[in-house]
Amino acid sequence: MNSEITKTAKMPVLFIGHGNPMNAIYDNLFTQTLSSYGKELGNLSPSAVLVISAHWLSKGTYVSTILTPPTIHDFSGFPDELFQVQYPAPGSPALALETKKLITSINVEEDNKFGLDHGAWSILKHLFPLADIPVYQLSIDYKKSPQWHFDLARELKPLREKGVLIIGSGNIVHNLYMVDFSNSAKPFPWAVEFDELVKIRLLDKKYESLTDYKDIGNSYLAVPSNDHYLPMMYTLGLADKDEPLQFIYEEIQNATISMRSFRIGN
Ligand code: ZN
Repeated sequence: MNSEITKTAKMPVLFIGHGNPMNAIYDNLFTQTLSSYGKELGNLSPSAVLVISAHWLSKGTYVSTILTPPTIHDFSGFPDELFQVQYPAPGSPALALETKKLITSINVEEDNKFGLDHGAWSILKHLFPLADIPVYQLSIDYKKSPQWHFDLARELKPLREKGVLIIGSGNIVHNLYMVDFSNSAKPFPWAVEFDELVKIRLLDKKYESLTDYKDIGNSYLAVPSNDHYLPMMYTLGLADKDEPLQFIYEEIQNATISMRSFRIGN
């Protein structure tokens, strides 16, 4: 464990749009992109993956210290095949405790029960199919503002020097009221517009301005609730100003869900 904790190469940070849980088992352009991208990331030999997912919302902030996290099927109305997916990666209690120690602005609670939610495993299954890299999660305090999450993320920066690959998993545009689960659904213009406006701010490295998303486009349609938007605050808060940003994928799936995914850092 000591060798993991002293590792010094600086890991990039990712934001991955996870979308429909069925992406876990679909073979489509999105999942093919993640599969090939995962091989590139695997060359960096992360000591662990820390996921901040839209599907672990809590009052207060928790870090998962569980040694063998179960695969949580936190949805209903999907085919059996999806419920059978397992992602048996080990946890990383040592790095989870290290994470708790790093955050000094609040008291991060330890959680020894929560496993991997589908915001984590549905993408990790494609990125790292062997499930041989330890994975742990940090919950999202849903009572807090985007700025608060952006600031909290800054405290996690030293983890990047310790070989931890940090992934925010959500969606920049996510509207389930108007979703169309057919695979040929045409994107709504407001979804395309909001996604493009965010893209411009990302390219301009105006990261902190994205904490104020309510003034962007038709945000009331694109972000009717901010649970899927907040994971991006962690990716952006972890970025250093001079680091390159690279888009990994862009598409609007199911008419209302932006799959835009990106990496910051080398
Ligand atoms: Zn989701």
